[in-house]
Order: sequence, then C-alpha cells, then structure tokens
Amino acid sequence: MKSEFLSLRQEAFEANMEIPQRGLAIYTWGNVSAFDAARSVFAIKPSGVPYDRLTPESMVVVDLDGKVADGTLRPSSDTKTHLVLYREFSGLGGITHTHSPYAVAWAQARKSLPVFGTTHADHGAESVLCTPFMSSEAVNRDYELETGSLIVETFKKENRNPHDMEMVLVAGHGPFTWGKDAADSVYHAAVLEEICKMGILTLQLEPHTPQLPEYIIRKHWERKHGAGAYYGQK
Ligand SMILES: [Zn+2]
Repeated sequence: MKSEFLSLRQEAFEANMEIPQRGLAIYTWGNVSAFDAARSVFAIKPSGVPYDRLTPESMVVVDLDGKVADGTLRPSSDTKTHLVLYREFSGLGGITHTHSPYAVAWAQARKSLPVFGTTHADHGAESVLCTPFMSSEAVNRDYELETGSLIVETFKKENRNPHDMEMVLVAGHGPFTWGKDAADSVYHAAVLEEICKMGILTLQLEPHTPQLPEYIIRKHWERKHGAGAYYGQK
C-alpha cells in the first residue's frame, strides 16, 4: 500500500460510509470516488464489498486510463463511468452514484426534475437533467464507459455547465452526482434524493405544477451563491 495515497483512501472511505448513513443505498448499491488532481488518480469503493466491511485500505486507487495504481481488490464496476466524468468535466473532486429510490423513480420515468421549489433552487437554478436511454450498440460496446459518455453528451446537447447543477439522472438507472470533493458529491446525492421525493409528492397533489417562477429561482440561487450572497455565516 503506497503511503502517498493514504489521505485519498481515507477521504473515499469516509464518503462511502456516508451512503448507508444517509439512507442512500442498501447492500452494495452505490459507490463514491475521491479525485487527486495533482496525481490524476481517484480512490473508489471496491466492487461488491458491503459497507460494513469497508476500510480505508480496501479502497482501490485507479488512474485516468482505468489502471489500478494501488490496491489489492477489484474497483467498483462503475469505475469507468467515474473515469469519463473526471476526464471530461474538469474540476471535479468527487463523484457519487447511488440507487436511492426517489431519484431512481425519476430516472426510470425518464423525466428531468423541474425546479418546483426553493429547496431545489438553493442548489441550482436549473432542472436536473435526465439522459435518454443508451443505445444497444453503446451497451454492448462498453456499458460503464458509455454511461459516462451519455452523461457528458447530455450536458453538451443541453448546453449545460456541470458546475451549475452537479447532478444527473441516467435513464432507467439512477443518479450520479459530483462536487468539490467526495463528501460534497455525497451531499449532492442526498440533496437530489430529497428534491426528487418532494417533486413526486408535489405532482401527487397537483399533477400540473409549474416550475417556480424564474425571479424566485434567481433570488434563492443568488442569496446563497451570487456576488452579494448573505446566506449562512461569514
Ligand atoms: Zn448503478
């Protein structure tokens, strides 16, 4: 075990342990990675190992070509999806994938999540995109890698900046989220699950609920993130 990756392993381990703690996945359904930009490697959950058996040592360090740089276990089966996102979306420090039920419900319904309220607007002024289904050619070519490419293509097609809304729904599958570090990406996974739940409840009460008016969306986004932000403590 290389000592240079100790803190990266620790970061990935702690973020992965937050997945069950926040109720975002059962069994082995989910994975978090932590990126080290200086070394161009990321530490990710090992494949098929339940959360209660994870340790910092069990994390697998992988480079951006998908080669294991350090570790004895096989990395998560979703490793190539993480790799594509780190390569194509510059500035990511961590990525989380879960099968949290409310976010999965939107992904299965193949619906982008509109900005129904200020909880959503506090985290981004735009809808959470849902990708189209992957083609059978792409699935057969390299499924996990193509999942990453599908996310990147969807953002390009919609002219979206991945730093404006740090989350996506992959059609028929589930959510991927990212952030400035691994913990931040798990935070976004928890936020996404919550706003997906609120969205479903909203549509149950009123199936034709419109988006929040643009001026309220802007207000909430700007008071937290804009030039004159005044939310929280200095
Ligand atoms: Zn999955």
